[in-house]
Formats: sequence, structure tokens, C-alpha cells
Amino acid sequence: MVSVPLLDWGDSSHFDARATRPCCLCGKPTPMRSHADEAVHKVCAEEWNAAHPDEPRRYTPPAPGRTQHDVGTWRFHNDGPTTAHLRAAAVTRDSTQRPASDRGAEQCGLFAA
Ligand SMILES: [Zn+2]
Repeated sequence: MVSVPLLDWGDSSHFDARATRPCCLCGKPTPMRSHADEAVHKVCAEEWNAAHPDEPRRYTPPAPGRTQHDVGTWRFHNDGPTTAHLRAAAVTRDSTQRPASDRGAEQCGLFAA
């Protein structure tokens, strides 16, 4: 059995108590949401990340004396801060709504070719 890195989705924004929607990966109903508001089971997102090792990754911000950590893919990643230029892109994109969201990353031109 292959070990799959788990996502830290402790933030309540990942749970939509108002409605279940079909998971974008397995199609079964779920109240769980990604940072981009995709309906997705956490375990499905973790398995998707593991199955897509070449997807663009996100990392913790650089800091003196600390190594950066992989926090998942742009599509599915941990809660908490990610690299500064990604946060700046999120603020530029949408300063009125959700904090860090993956939506619009393509428009920022930051995806690898
Ligand atoms: Zn699923």
C-alpha cells in the first residue's frame, strides 16, 4: 500500500453544511469543498495529488532557518500561508472575498508550461 500525503483542511471553509454536491473526482455527494470551492472529498483530493506528481506545487513561505515544505498542488493544498508571490496573486485577483483560493491561478500566468 502506497502512503498518500494527507491534506490539512482544518478550516471550516472546507465544510459546506448547507448542501452536498457531487464530488468532482468520484461523483458521490460531499459537503467538503476545496480552496477553490470545488466539491471534493478530502481523501479524493489527497489521492488526486498523489496521482498527479507533475502538477504545479505550492510551498510554505521562505524563512531564514526554515526549509520550505510542499503543501500540495495548486488545485488541492493545505490551509495556511503559501509562498508570498502566490498570496500576492490571490490578493490581486480577489480582494473582497475568500482569502487564498486556487481559482484564477491560470489567469495569473503562474502555471508551468
Ligand atoms: Zn470523492
